[in-house]
Amino acid sequence: SSPSGGETAHPGRLVIISGPSGAGKSTVVKQLMKRCDVPLQLSVSATTREPRPGEIHGRDYFFLSHEEFERRRKLNDFVECKQVFSLGQWYGTLKDQVATGLNAGKWVILEIDVQGAMAVLDDPHYRPVTIFVHPGSMEELERRLRNRGTESESSLTARLETAAAEMQCLSRYQYEIINESVDNAVTEICQILMDQRKTTPCS
Ligand code: 5GP
Repeated sequence: SSPSGGETAHPGRLVIISGPSGAGKSTVVKQLMKRCDVPLQLSVSATTREPRPGEIHGRDYFFLSHEEFERRRKLNDFVECKQVFSLGQWYGTLKDQVATGLNAGKWVILEIDVQGAMAVLDDPHYRPVTIFVHPGSMEELERRLRNRGTESESSLTARLETAAAEMQCLSRYQYEIINESVDNAVTEICQILMDQRKTTPCS
């Protein structure tokens, strides 16, 4: 069966939100879930990185050991999975998260990096809406990452290097959002999703 359905008036769809780490994506996505009048579901990814203070297993991520992640990878449990940073941590989108949402007619949000987004775009099975969120400049990004205070200096450097590379992929996305204010970013993304919902499934 097709992931875009067709049985319901408003079939589900994948929405990819990418952007450099520290761009404020998670905050924007959390507000979007609360404020946007589109049936949204956030896909919870798996990762091998350690939880940050306050992060909860099953809500923010499924925190897996490298062995468990590798086992699930071999089982073909991921839509896509990537080693995101030079630090050696893995991140992946779980098939069951995506399938459950789409089958329920939800717009399933994937907050994933550029490599993951390109893998999903390469799969003709999905026709995701693609949105790139960034803070406007590398200087602003560094300021936000430092303010967040969650990263070691080496992780910070790796994240800034990755961010510079990710910015090169901006043109592969349908929409660009400059996250100067969370409120405006949320309003803009919500409007995009409402507009996309109006277009017919076959357009
Ligand atoms: P963080 O460690 O800050 O939570 O996430 C680091 C990066 O990994 C972010 O750019 C985030 O979008 C990306 N990421 C999170 N989950 C996934 C996933 O399932 N797949 C991929 N490819 N990237 C992910």
